[in-house]
Amino acid sequence: MKKEMRCACGKTAEYVEHMKFNNNDLDGWRCSCGEVYYNPQKVERILLLNKLKKQSFRLRLSQVRSNLILRIPKEVSDVLDLHKGCEVEFILKDRDKIVIHPIT
Ligand SMILES: [Zn+2]
Repeated sequence: MKKEMRCACGKTAEYVEHMKFNNNDLDGWRCSCGEVYYNPQKVERILLLNKLKKQSFRLRLSQVRSNLILRIPKEVSDVLDLHKGCEVEFILKDRDKIVIHPIT
């Protein structure tokens, strides 16, 4: 990530890590004039995550040999940065509830 960028005011904004945006940890640039520029890719990801959190997914199980396979929708795996080979924690909460935690 580049260390500085030109602010709209004409001064140079410095790169900063661990800024807060909607309760998310985010990097970006801050200028001495008070202007803040967030990392645009991470902002996009946070907005998409917030959108996906409001919906539920109805998934169909498939099967390979004796194991049932759950297919995670691409938009979910993209926003969570999950890919083949990733480990997740699988917790059986009750007969009607399963929780899957991505391990990062
Ligand atoms: Zn500025």
